[in-house]
Amino acid sequence: MSLHGDYDSQNIFAQIIRGDAPCYKLYEDDDVLAFLDVFPQSYGHSLVIPKRSAARNMLDIDSESLCKVMQVVQKITRALVDELQPAGVQVAQFNGAPAGQTVFHIHMHVIPRFAGEDLGIHASAKADAAELEALQARLVTRLKA
Ligand code: AMP
Repeated sequence: MSLHGDYDSQNIFAQIIRGDAPCYKLYEDDDVLAFLDVFPQSYGHSLVIPKRSAARNMLDIDSESLCKVMQVVQKITRALVDELQPAGVQVAQFNGAPAGQTVFHIHMHVIPRFAGEDLGIHASAKADAAELEALQARLVTRLKA
């Protein structure tokens, strides 16, 4: 039943939005936050979330918030392509645990894909903090260029 239910304000992304948990922030405005995934499926795996919409998934989110999220998804995609030059980019979003969702605050995955790498939907290893910091610095600089 994870497709339906109440929004849990203690979920990790809600904590990140409130500043109660850290993130490797790439971009933020009044409505949207983008940050690095700490269990990346590839180098540069990023997440984009609405800040004002307490939406678990695509069924809940209002269209205005969704449009703002997608504008930032495009911004992040362009920055990833310019900076990392992947062979492709996957934009993905899961609704409900059976579909692969593990965090119940709606989010878009932006995943650079490099030739020869597996197309998994979940990674098992946490990324190295120093590597994430270095990547964050590169992408923040690129986003400001
Ligand atoms: P999903 O499976 O679509 O719900 O994706 C949730 C994503 O959030 C996964 O790719 C996790 O690796 C990622 N994730 C979980 N906790 C954090 C965190 N504290 N900071 C960044 N990414 C996270």
